[in-house]
Formats: sequence, structure tokens, C-alpha cells
Amino acid sequence: MSDSKSRPFKHRMLLGWVNDICPHALEGKPWPDISIDQDTVTNYKAYFQEAKDAGFNAFTLWGLYSSHAWPVPLNSPEIQRRRKFVDAILEEAHKQGITALFGIGVYSWGFDEIIKHDPTCARNEGRMVYGSIVPDNGVAMCYHEPSARAWMQRIIDFCVKDLGAKGFGFQPADLGRCYCHECKLLSDIEYYTRVTNETAAYAKSLDKNLILGLSGWGVEIDGPFESTVKLSQNLDFVTDVSDQSAAKGRTFRKELSAKLPCSLGSLGGPVIVPPQRWNRDRWFFPHANLTGTNIRELAEDGGSAFEFFVGPLNNPQGKLMLHFVGEQLQHPEAPIETSLGRVVDKLLKPKNTQTKSEIVAWLLAVEMAFIKGAGKLPGGEFDFEPLKTEYAGPPIYLDRLKGQSLQRYRDDLSRLRLSLPGMAAGCREPELLNQIAECLPNVMMDIDQTMLRRQHGPRDLR
Ligand SMILES: [Zn+2]
Repeated sequence: MSDSKSRPFKHRMLLGWVNDICPHALEGKPWPDISIDQDTVTNYKAYFQEAKDAGFNAFTLWGLYSSHAWPVPLNSPEIQRRRKFVDAILEEAHKQGITALFGIGVYSWGFDEIIKHDPTCARNEGRMVYGSIVPDNGVAMCYHEPSARAWMQRIIDFCVKDLGAKGFGFQPADLGRCYCHECKLLSDIEYYTRVTNETAAYAKSLDKNLILGLSGWGVEIDGPFESTVKLSQNLDFVTDVSDQSAAKGRTFRKELSAKLPCSLGSLGGPVIVPPQRWNRDRWFFPHANLTGTNIRELAEDGGSAFEFFVGPLNNPQGKLMLHFVGEQLQHPEAPIETSLGRVVDKLLKPKNTQTKSEIVAWLLAVEMAFIKGAGKLPGGEFDFEPLKTEYAGPPIYLDRLKGQSLQRYRDDLSRLRLSLPGMAAGCREPELLNQIAECLPNVMMDIDQTMLRRQHGPRDLR
């Protein structure tokens, strides 16, 4: 066993928009809903306690203060209103030894209002997004405009000096970049390297202890090694969000992680995003084998950062996977069954090892019931409902199960469900299994509705 395999991950992180842990459905606002009040603080107090217990040491939080648009001036009345709640959330994180990182855009994501207010920071000559040119450019500042650099630094100043940020998850590319006559002379990777490096260096000049990471949506991580090394020189970790480097071959990823000046990270393959607008007992898709295998392979390749996308604790998947991923990140070499067994022991207290083994096998069977119909899930987002509606959307994740595989999934769940009462009776703390028993009929109802829609057309029957 090599050292890298036996070592816990250095950056054992959580990731999400501020309401992704919300214990109830949020309807009536576009995604991402970043509403915040005293209940949010209460939810985070509980979540951070659980996260510490699960073994995490950081949390990249998106939407603490803004999503698409920082206000002008930055310290607006709304920012001041949010301040007492965010301060309390950061305090709760600190109490549990969890470093809260601010998820922020770099030159794009968060600049819509700034660009309207100060048009000198952007050029309306188009934007390059994931390889396509988009004519509208109300969202990306221009690297060649000095006022853009000033705004970026003003935001970093504000977050570090006024709002108490201990680090950042930077995202430079998800909404694309300026493609004006000057910027287009730079390749994508050169552009993202420059904006990331300069912003990170500026942040470290304010506080060298800040933890800085890159969320690599839209950034080429599988290019020449020297590009990625250059991109990472002022960072503590780089998250290869869609595992581009692994897709190029494990040998490539091993070599890349050995050359990087910081930790190489992953989101674990498909990013299972919790539905914003669904009741919390409407889904259950445990994915220990999928994510655990990804963690083990990343560790074997020398990676030491991981960001796990959070979900609400009152959905049994959210709680189970939080503890499982935390366990696997501390013992990346452990077989999936061993980590899952430890979590089952902790959360359910089975009365004997036979019940424990039965529950572990059952959870893996529930996962396999979906995977065998859907096939290998690609990296990138896995959404239960469409992200961009304001009210509860249809279960689009079931569209991954084509033809008869949806009926087979239903048959498997219907059969597996029968084991729940017996397993619950074999545990001293069966609450999690009882919650699963409440979710499964709702999953099956979604399957039935989906099958009806397939037979009778797209009318929303639910
Ligand atoms: Zn430009």
C-alpha cells in the first residue's frame, strides 16, 4: 500500500449553494434561491455539527451574499441585512473547526449589476462560453480593462477585510469570458490562468493563510501539464469538476497531480445536486459505490482535495452520503463496504453484524438498481428536477432510464422495500431506515407518473 493511499485527504470539503441543505422545499424563486434568515443559521448549526462528526474540515458556500450580481455599492442595505445571518453561520462553522470558503466568480458570475453600473469594466464584443461565442456580454468583465481588475480587488477586499472570508472557491469560467478584440488573442487557458493567478495573488497579499481553490467548470484541466501548473501556482487546490484529467487516463492524472504545486481535487464524478423545490422525502438515490470508488481512485492518483455537494439532512440520502463521504475521505484506501459499514454502525446501531452486513448490501443494491438501467453516469451535474424553474419540476433523473429499464427499476425498489421493516427491527436507532421507507413510495410514484407520461404524452399528471 502506497503512502498516498493510506493518507486522509487534506482538503475534505463540502460544497453547495446556501440553501442546498434547507430542510424544506423552496418554491417561487429562480435557482439559485439565496434567501437567508435566522432559520438558515439554525440549519447550518445542525449541519456543521454533523459535518464535523463526519470528518469534514471545510465548506465552499455559494450565495452567502450574492449569486449573479454583487450590488453597487458593495456594502448595500441588503448586504448589511444578510450580514448578521452570515456572520452567525461563519461563527457556527468556526466552532466546529470547519473553514467556510466563499464561492465567488472571477471576472464572471456576480458582475451583472457592476457591469450595468460601470460599463467601463466590460466590452460588449461577445463572450466565449464552453467553446461557443455568445453575443450577449452582460456578465463577464474584460481582462484588459483596469476598472475590471479594480472591481475584482474591491470584492476580495470587501470579503476578506469586512466580511471575514477565510478563503475562496474561485470560479472564473462557468459563465465564460470576455472575447473582445484583445482578450480573444489569449487562449481560454491563458485567460483563465491570468485572471485566477492575479486574483489569488491579490487575496494572498491580504492574508497568506487564506485557503484558495479553483472550481474548474469550463477550465481545461487536461491540457499540457505546464498550463495547469501555471494556473495553480497561487492556489491550495484545483477541483477538476468533471474529472477531465482522469478521462485522459489514470497515468496522466497521476503525473499531473505529482507536478501540481497544490492539491488536485474532484467532485466525485456526477455531481448529485439536491432539488430546490421538491419536498424532502421525494428522492432517495444512495451512491456510495459511485462516489467512494471515485475517491479511492483519486487518492491512488495522488489527489488530496474533494468537494462533496451537500443535500438536506432530513432526506436520508443527504445524511447517509455526508457521513459516508466523510468516512471515505479519511480512509481513502478502505473498501466501500467497510466505510459504509462504519457509517451504518454509527447512524443505525445495528444489533448484530449480520444486520449490519444486510443493510450495507441493501444500500448498494438500491444504488445498483438505478445504475444498471442508467449505465455509467458521466461527470457533470446530475439533477433530479430541472434547475431553472420556479416551481417543483418533473423527475428528469428518471429520463436516464430508457424503455423497460424504468419498469425494472420500479420492480427492484418494490422488492427491496420489503426488507426495510426487518432491517429496522434489527437496529437500535432505526430512524434513517424509517425515513427511507417514507421516501421510496414517493420515488415509485414519480416512476409511475413518468411511465404514464411516456404512454400518454407530456401532460404533467402530478
Ligand atoms: Zn476583453
